[in-house]
Amino acid sequence: MKKHNYSAGPCILPQEVFEKASQAILNFNNSGLSILEISHRSKDFVAVMEEARSLVLELLNLEGKGYQVLFLQGGASLEFLRVPYNLMKVEGKAAYLDTGTWANGAIKEAKSFGETVIVGSSKEENYNHIPKEYQIPSDANYFHCTSNNTIFGTQIKNFPKTNVPIVCDMSSDIFSRSLDFSNFDLIYAGAQKNIGPAGTTLIIVKEEILGKTNRNIPNILNYQQHITKESMYNTPPVFAVYTSLLTLQWLKKIGGISAIEKINETKANILYSEIDRNPLFTGVASKEDRSIMNATFVLKNPEHQELFDTMWKEAGISGINGHRSVGGYRASMYNALPIESVQVLVNVMKELENKI
Ligand SMILES: *Cc1c(COP(=O)(O)O)cnc(C)c1O
Repeated sequence: MKKHNYSAGPCILPQEVFEKASQAILNFNNSGLSILEISHRSKDFVAVMEEARSLVLELLNLEGKGYQVLFLQGGASLEFLRVPYNLMKVEGKAAYLDTGTWANGAIKEAKSFGETVIVGSSKEENYNHIPKEYQIPSDANYFHCTSNNTIFGTQIKNFPKTNVPIVCDMSSDIFSRSLDFSNFDLIYAGAQKNIGPAGTTLIIVKEEILGKTNRNIPNILNYQQHITKESMYNTPPVFAVYTSLLTLQWLKKIGGISAIEKINETKANILYSEIDRNPLFTGVASKEDRSIMNATFVLKNPEHQELFDTMWKEAGISGINGHRSVGGYRASMYNALPIESVQVLVNVMKELENKI
């Protein structure tokens, strides 16, 4: 039986994507060849890459606005490094918002390139909220933020207005909600949370912000090189890109971001209402900053843990243990998680209440 998969990443993808992707391993496009054994320069694969790149712009409503799309390797973690390499001027300055573990990873890499100003941080409260009312220095080369903090369950609801280019790590909430994506100058996301399998990173960059650092950038780390080579500077991760394309096609078919956003809000409402109603549980993140992707919560009485863990496992639920830095539980409700799975979890929470 298929589990109710709440894993934070790699995570659930639509069932039809798994089926189509497995079919392509056996026989891609009726070519008599597997997607894994054809050249990335073949007509069929070039078409996959081109469709994936253009579908990203279509879904985010960024067509014709000067953006380029890349599917690279190295995970979001490599973008922590590639961003300052490409955007921070020699003796330049960058502004970062510190909202958790991943933001910190990005800050650490930026520090080796130049002055890194932390404009706000919620570290003192173990990142249970998003800092607000911060100032971005007008002479910063860019401002970096993390839209959704996968580990702590917080999400930025209002992005700053600034003349400084905005870079955003959207690894765990891209394609989940409507935003004016043209407010961002560079967006990146490891595929394994809302797009596809691990192995590729989506990068969307406004081309005009590149080439301003007078820094010598190695080709493999240079966004402009990858753009010139149409995301095929070297062998791309063909299977991860193909599977990502299948997910993007699925998203378009069900009505795009505005349709999935409604579903995601419904799922989050069902779960957060129960966390707030059920006297045995309490939420971790501040209410106004709660993520609609990753809900963090704890049992008020740790003695109930053993029984609760047995019950959700018996209900076919997988992957809701919290991250070690937060503890408790984390339910990741990415795009592909069905509403029914959330209902199953909420029912287990209610049953626990009845038993105690
Ligand atoms: C998972 C995650 C990362 C790390 O991604 P990798 O692809 O493993 O490097 C970075 N940022 C956020 C917000 C994440 O959720």
